[in-house]
Amino acid sequence: MQVDIRKIPCFSDRNRIAVLNRLVVTNPDLMPHQVAAATGCTLEDAMQVLMLLYDLHLVEAFTLVYHSVHPDAPPAQALRMDISDGLPSFPIQCPLCEEKIDSPSEVTYGFLFVLNEDVQFVTETDELTVNCGNEDE
Ligand SMILES: [Zn+2]
Repeated sequence: MQVDIRKIPCFSDRNRIAVLNRLVVTNPDLMPHQVAAATGCTLEDAMQVLMLLYDLHLVEAFTLVYHSVHPDAPPAQALRMDISDGLPSFPIQCPLCEEKIDSPSEVTYGFLFVLNEDVQFVTETDELTVNCGNEDE
């Protein structure tokens, strides 16, 4: 499905959209910091793009809950909750060390978006190709 994110100021730059298109082809699992790092946009912009995909039902969105004592734990080892469920009610059990976690101060949060289908972000170049043909000399 084609998605237009050019209204998000950072993505009025077609080079960033090209980078993003390559990223979604190779990474069906997307995290906001990964999108921000790849494209040079802010975390807020990255989150805006990913939440747009969620609104369009193109991704499944998860809140990742990391036990703070394992700062290097990979996303696969975090507690994964559907984003629509909000934040966890404590206590929870750490999936990694199986310890009981009593308070929000003992965790950090992340977000994970998993693509349901192929996504292509459109650029103005796509329109030019269709509407104007070759504009080079
Ligand atoms: Zn733990």
